[in-house]
Amino acid sequence: MQQDDPHITLITPTAPVAAKTHGGRAKCLQRLVRLDLPVPRTVALSFDAVHQIAAGQMPDMGDLLAPFGNAALLCVRPSSEDPDWGGPGAVLNIGMNDAVHADLADRLGKEAAATLYLRFVQSYAIHVARLDPDTFESITHTGPAGLAAALDAYEDEAEEEFPQEPAVQLAAVLRSMARAWEGTTARLLRQAKGAPVDAGLGLVVQEMVFGVGQGESGSGVIQLVSSETGLPQITGRYLSQSQGRDALRGEASLYLERDPRGPSLEELAPQAFADLIEYTKLMRVKLRAEMQAEFTIENGKVWLLDGVRVPRSTRAAVRIAVQLATDGIIPPQEALMRVDPRMLSELLHRQVDPNAPRDRLARGIAASPGAATGRIVFSASEAQASASRDEPCILVRRETSPEDIRGMHAAVAVLTERGGMTSHAAVIGRGLGLPCVVGATELRFHLRKKTLTAPDGRVLRAGDVITVDGTSGEILAGAAPLLESAQDDTFQTLMGWADAERDIAVRANADTPADALTARNFNAEGIGLCRTEHMFFEADRLIVMREMIFANTAQDRRAALERLLPMQRADFTELFRIMQGQPVCIRLLDPPLHEFLPHDRAGHRELADALDLPLSDVTRRVEALGEYNPMLGMRGVRLGITVPEIYDMQARAIFEATIEASRDGAPVVPEIMIPLVSAKREVELVKTHIDAVAAAVRNETGQKFDYRIGVMVETPRAALRAGDIAPHCAFLSFGTNDLTQMTYGLSRDDAGRFMSTYVQQGVFPEDPFHTLDQEGVGELLRLAAERGRAAHPDLVLSICGEHGGSPESIDFCRAAGFDYVSCSPFRVPVARLAAAQIAV
Ligand code: PEP
Ligand code: MG
Repeated sequence: MQQDDPHITLITPTAPVAAKTHGGRAKCLQRLVRLDLPVPRTVALSFDAVHQIAAGQMPDMGDLLAPFGNAALLCVRPSSEDPDWGGPGAVLNIGMNDAVHADLADRLGKEAAATLYLRFVQSYAIHVARLDPDTFESITHTGPAGLAAALDAYEDEAEEEFPQEPAVQLAAVLRSMARAWEGTTARLLRQAKGAPVDAGLGLVVQEMVFGVGQGESGSGVIQLVSSETGLPQITGRYLSQSQGRDALRGEASLYLERDPRGPSLEELAPQAFADLIEYTKLMRVKLRAEMQAEFTIENGKVWLLDGVRVPRSTRAAVRIAVQLATDGIIPPQEALMRVDPRMLSELLHRQVDPNAPRDRLARGIAASPGAATGRIVFSASEAQASASRDEPCILVRRETSPEDIRGMHAAVAVLTERGGMTSHAAVIGRGLGLPCVVGATELRFHLRKKTLTAPDGRVLRAGDVITVDGTSGEILAGAAPLLESAQDDTFQTLMGWADAERDIAVRANADTPADALTARNFNAEGIGLCRTEHMFFEADRLIVMREMIFANTAQDRRAALERLLPMQRADFTELFRIMQGQPVCIRLLDPPLHEFLPHDRAGHRELADALDLPLSDVTRRVEALGEYNPMLGMRGVRLGITVPEIYDMQARAIFEATIEASRDGAPVVPEIMIPLVSAKREVELVKTHIDAVAAAVRNETGQKFDYRIGVMVETPRAALRAGDIAPHCAFLSFGTNDLTQMTYGLSRDDAGRFMSTYVQQGVFPEDPFHTLDQEGVGELLRLAAERGRAAHPDLVLSICGEHGGSPESIDFCRAAGFDYVSCSPFRVPVARLAAAQIAV
């Protein structure tokens, strides 16, 4: 071997081997060699060398074999840059031929030697010579009889004798592994795991140690922590008289530690067991990661063949990272980088046990994570009835509307036929931490018959038990086994470290006291969006709201609003108290008024009764309030300007609550946000009203208080004219749900119907309601931030659309100079960690 050839390198402590050129396994083996651990002699072939082999250019086999001496058997293992990208299976016992077989028969016994040879012939025939696998897999005898059958079969199928020259065997193995990597299936598989198109494969050629023969011999894997919990626990598998990954396949493997249920490695070979633990501990400290070691024991002596990071659940990932930092092996900043923020939501919700079987009925859009099991109900009122009987239920609707809120509160999960990531069900589901699957068009919804039909023909009725998995988007038949959420000490420690690093604030979108409590528990730094419309759907308020809508005169309207005032005041006082002086940003009423009205005849009749009006009057008024395009209609600030009494009442409630909550708690500075603005004049008009209400409340009470007025940027025009608007407000908060809808001209409630086709065909790289469109919507954000800040340097900037919790948008907002992001309470930890990772 040419020692100066950088592509074929004997692994020594100083050889030039890197993961980027020779792959992760080669690099790891070098690290083990540096630690003076017992690693069989190994030669690493670089990505370039393997690429040339695939193209037919073989290295000099004599050079390659030289470091291994004469009699040794070899194995070849894949070494891709990232072990997750896979690679062709290892080929063991290369060099085995009639002569070596005879020699080994003397040393290891006839049976063992013949079985080793047999294994090699089988794997060579199938994976290297590409002969018919059935012929070779059907040889069930081991030992000499099996070997004779395999050699005969080889001669028949290949029409030549089994090759005896080690150099010929090795060259053929290298060629077949190199080519397998370049095949289409292998390429697609690894690209699906995130590998780049030109990902390289390295190979390691290693001297075999036998896991078969005299004394205690065998092979296995070991790790010192549980992959599920990350807690200390010696786990792994070991099989006497085995090679390669045999121990992982069969059920017959032994326990590692002494175990009452059966024989263990610890009893069979205590020294080898102790050595293995010592080696794995050393790997943890020196490689700065919790490692799983692949090992072979030959006549009582341990050899290490590979080390990979312990496979882990998210909960284990958190514990492992925190423990490594607590033990001083890595700095806390590095521990933060080792946990994927997106995975954290697994810890905050119940999950379907990943190891349990799943009886899948259908799949929809995974709109709000977590899993829950319950009986199917088809209406909000049935959900409430079910909850009052303490029976968990799943609310099934074509889509949800504000009227379903109480039903959603009562349900353990929600399933809808329509909708996308920012549909009503999705937004509310995430806010409540309620598992939710939307856009489940694979199921046929017969709402009148109250049935759901799965693609395989199974019919589900009201009362049937299903499991909704909002993490994967699956709907499962029956009660799937669930794992509880896991916010333990290590989780809190990691979050504390994240807060010390990050430099952008994280608030929560919270509408109710329950949301606000969740937000506080997750250490949100205030409420970034309180959507007040949900406060009006309680039964006692809805009727007053309807009276207000039906009022004929301003005076009647004011009378109804006066009855709503104390309710709103109580809502805000409670929120302020829960948030203990942290900022609370309250959005004035946003939806079109007709959303508060009943939609069917029975509802109209009920309302006519309650208001003592003729049915025809009610029907006519409801129809008159209807709009062709309600999302672009009389909503948000347009309502505030047309019916100013509503915002006046809300402003008064906010100020009175401010005084009330500040009296016995931390001082409150409320933030009042105006929705759906598109022109400066709208802001001026509403601000004049709010300032007048503040002055009146100050006068009446003799109390002082501060407040801030801000604008929600949800229309492209508001973004473009941010320079005009900014001097009239203290903050701009980007409502990227509506802003995305309006920038694309894409209905957030209907886009689910074609979004998957659009994404599959690459029209959009991703669902823009899910992942912030940095090019288009993002340009508006950047532009508005610049224009707003130029006109008003102290302007506070934030995002409060559903994108606020995603790591990419946090990165974007931080770069654009935003002060905070606001997201659903359950995404606050994700945002805190993501923000820390960006800052580290
Ligand atoms: C938005 O439009 O981004 C927003 C936060 O408001 P809503 O989702 O209530 O329309
Ligand atoms: Mg909006």
